[in-house]
Amino acid sequence: MFVSNFKIVIIGESMVGKTSILLRYIKGKFIKVGERTINTNCFKKTISINNMTFEINIWDTAGEEKYHAMAPIFYRGADGAVITFDFTRRETFERAQKWFEELNQFSENNPKIILVGNKHDLDNKVVTGDEARELAEKYKAIFLSVSALTGENINEIFTSLTYEIYHNKTKKNKSKNKNIKIVDENNNNNNDKKCSC
Ligand code: GDP
Ligand code: MG
Repeated sequence: MFVSNFKIVIIGESMVGKTSILLRYIKGKFIKVGERTINTNCFKKTISINNMTFEINIWDTAGEEKYHAMAPIFYRGADGAVITFDFTRRETFERAQKWFEELNQFSENNPKIILVGNKHDLDNKVVTGDEARELAEKYKAIFLSVSALTGENINEIFTSLTYEIYHNKTKKNKSKNKNIKIVDENNNNNNDKKCSC
């Protein structure tokens, strides 16, 4: 089996639902804060898109986003990023712009970005899809409304982003007259991107 190994980071203000999104994606269910027994900030998943197989390593924060003290290693080598805000807390959307800037500043790879509005299941939304889409377009990112609670669009976050990363790399490599680098799962020389999970 051939696999491309990508690193994806998930960022955004505290309590927007980053860990919930990740757990919903990895475990297939919504896990409340008090019921979490998983003690890792890095998750690995293998996905297939159009007969191609990708291994993605998704890095979650350990709460350091509260202080905006993200370690450089968090961003290092990131191929993609999920910038998350909470539809019911306007300040988390306003601060999304800051996350775009921080990502551009600290990641050397020019990662593909997806802007995600979470908690779409709630009625008290104070951010519209149109303004979120506008912000995403400004940074050439995709936008998705999601809910970790109901599962709405959660798989789409990671499949769309992975496909975009792949597409981007293929384009870049084509312009250099090379094919995308496909690494063998059993002979993976991309260890710098692997997390310790
Ligand atoms: P993080 O700090 O960004 O990792 O946020 P958490 O994943 O810990 O979630 C913060 C709070 O929001 C928790 O109380 C979650 O149960 C809640 N939450 C997360 N996602 C959703 C969602 O899609 N809908 C609703 N209604 N609540 C959510
Ligand atoms: Mg969290």
